[in-house]
Amino acid sequence: MKLNKTILASLSVLTVAISSVTPTDAFVGRLGSHSIGTIKRWQQVVVRNGGRLSRHGAKGAHTVSRLNSKGMRLIAGRHKRGKTLKAAKRIAKGPSSPSYFWSAPTTIDSLLSEQTKSMIGQEFRNGSSEQYSPASLMQANVFANCPLHGGVFKRRETVKNIILHSTETAREADAQRVILSWNNKGLRHAGAQFVVDRDGVIYCTADPTYGTTHVDNRRTKRGINNDNSIGIEIVRTGKQEYSAEQMQSVVCLVRYLQERFKVADNHILGHGQVQPSDRSDPVNFNWQTFTTDKELLTRTAYSKRNNDG
Ligand SMILES: [Zn+2]
Repeated sequence: MKLNKTILASLSVLTVAISSVTPTDAFVGRLGSHSIGTIKRWQQVVVRNGGRLSRHGAKGAHTVSRLNSKGMRLIAGRHKRGKTLKAAKRIAKGPSSPSYFWSAPTTIDSLLSEQTKSMIGQEFRNGSSEQYSPASLMQANVFANCPLHGGVFKRRETVKNIILHSTETAREADAQRVILSWNNKGLRHAGAQFVVDRDGVIYCTADPTYGTTHVDNRRTKRGINNDNSIGIEIVRTGKQEYSAEQMQSVVCLVRYLQERFKVADNHILGHGQVQPSDRSDPVNFNWQTFTTDKELLTRTAYSKRNNDG
């Protein structure tokens, strides 16, 4: 009886901890459906990350990890007795949920010379860098590196959508602060693959071949979800206007991702368009200017390609 109470207490704490970001039932479902092997792999990931969990100092991270291992042991015990297997299966109901990682693996193909780096940067700004992987763009300093800790998962669908957001923080905050606030929330938390700062610097938090949670899958329209979309957060709040540098970076970034992942024009959308029930960002975003500028960049890329080829 006491054990059962502990189980229930653990699960309800977990539910509260996670519900603000992702479907609650999905997370509880993971607990129920997890094999010991999966849990061990999690632990290994944590160990490989140099025990980042505890270094984090984040309350959320601690809670989740402790509860995960506790939940695991409890579920394992239940399985052994067989009697409560049904209960474990019942918990496993709900939308399937991805396995979250502490970080997306980064691949470094080769070291780039300074000359190559500057050439890649130029091609990115000219709208013709799609032949380079996101990792190469990171190496070339086109993207600044500020990785997510947690909140990353392996995609189960191909990328079809690019979703624009604005951060709309309670107070003015730069990109790194926004990413830090995500990272303080344990293994499962919100985050977008890119955050474009006020000065136009593009932070890449995770290789976009991996998924992150930037929309609420339960509320999105048109089959759009985190598995098939890339999220771009633009730093803005209150009465701030998008800076010219930001707009330019967003245009170049969308152009790159669109070409790299073969995303159709009508699949470049705002969070408010795909999740209108509770979102309206990017707030005050000028889609007309964005579209015009992106078309201009596309023309630049084509004419350059024709001249070169
Ligand atoms: Zn949003």
